[in-house]
Amino acid sequence: KAKKAEGLSPVEAAALLNIDDSELLKEMFEAAHIVKEKIYGKRIVMFAPLYVSNYCVNSCKYCGYKHENDELCRKKLTREELIAEVKALEKLGHKRIALEAGEDPINCSLDYILECIKDIYSIKFDNGNIRRINVNIAATTVENYKKLKDVGIGTYILFQETYHKDNYEVLHPTGPKHDYAYHTEAMDRAMTAGIDDVGIGVLFGLDMYRYDFAGLLMHAEHLEAKFGVGPHTISVPRIRPADDIDPDDFENAINDDIFEKIVAILRIAVPYTGIIVSTRETQKSRERVLKVGVSQISGASSTSVGGYAEKEKPEDNSAQFENNDNRTLDEIIGWLMDLGHIPSFCTACYREGRTGDRFMTLVKSGQIANCCAPNALMTLKEYLEDYASDEVKAKGEVLIKQELEKIPNPVVKQKATEYIENIHEGKRDFRF
Ligand code: SF4
Ligand code: SF4
Repeated sequence: KAKKAEGLSPVEAAALLNIDDSELLKEMFEAAHIVKEKIYGKRIVMFAPLYVSNYCVNSCKYCGYKHENDELCRKKLTREELIAEVKALEKLGHKRIALEAGEDPINCSLDYILECIKDIYSIKFDNGNIRRINVNIAATTVENYKKLKDVGIGTYILFQETYHKDNYEVLHPTGPKHDYAYHTEAMDRAMTAGIDDVGIGVLFGLDMYRYDFAGLLMHAEHLEAKFGVGPHTISVPRIRPADDIDPDDFENAINDDIFEKIVAILRIAVPYTGIIVSTRETQKSRERVLKVGVSQISGASSTSVGGYAEKEKPEDNSAQFENNDNRTLDEIIGWLMDLGHIPSFCTACYREGRTGDRFMTLVKSGQIANCCAPNALMTLKEYLEDYASDEVKAKGEVLIKQELEKIPNPVVKQKATEYIENIHEGKRDFRF
């Protein structure tokens, strides 16, 4: 049933969590791999987080940004600092970012976030531009979600952290985030406001992982039933050390084997949803989950406010958590190609109006593969031309040549080939 790529119910998926037999696990991981390749092909989409403010009025026990952490250097980017950050990201080659901020209506108002988004879209540096801004900010009102939609955000991302209400209330003792119902119903308000693409997630390790795994899938089922479209993405962060946070304090922390199982089952349970893994994970652990269905990863990330433009001094620590994959973007691009993936900087769907149910229809009919593969190759070529080292460029050129040959639609193949051949003439941003 999983191999048909039509999804599984939360109950079926939860049952699969009990598999321990090595042969059955192998079969399940293979199924997850097949489903990922069937729907999205070999492409892995790249993004980077951009932290604009770490002021926060909440007290989430697992987060370095929590209100009572006096050791943290609190910052909010000025316009000049924001421009410097965006230029630094564009200089790396990034096209897609996740804008991140703590919750603080005074020090970091929604108006400030809206201004940041408008500024980021307007900053062009050499051939660089940020083409899609996903936004990860606190739960808010329908009215505010409408404002976010109006400035052109990509996905609205909000993690539930844990679906277990009692534990949630203990982990979020004070601040607006303490309100479980308000937080849990945020995606309903976002979708009511017209935001088509929403991204959900839990912080694995906060509660019993089986409970939160089931909660994630039931949340996805609820959104699909109510709005006709499930979550655009699911993120699977795990508890990490941060200033003031020791993961050993969290007895529900999950190991790499369980983590891999969770990703694989998510892939086959919700085949049309992107699965995101960040630099919280090590290279080794990212390698494992890339094989079983992850479709989007961050690279060369800074979790500090202002961390791209300036290397932070240890005494000015403003990071939310510690990275476990500190490689450069160039190293990550080379590594992805060595593993048989096509690194992609594609942002086409949202910019072509393929969001929400329009996006899901294309994915379910299998037609999205006609867009993902050529867009991946064209944006990879842009990266190679503008930012890559000689070694990665050489590797990428070979890959692009091989993969262009495999595009089944002759018109798409011809257009993509033409674009790729002419890219050195300053042409950028062609997309399907
Ligand atoms: Fe603030 Fe978010 Fe950290 Fe909680 S998780 S302390 S809301 S930044
Ligand atoms: Fe994502 Fe759409 Fe681009 Fe495919 S074509 S990588 S689904 S934005």
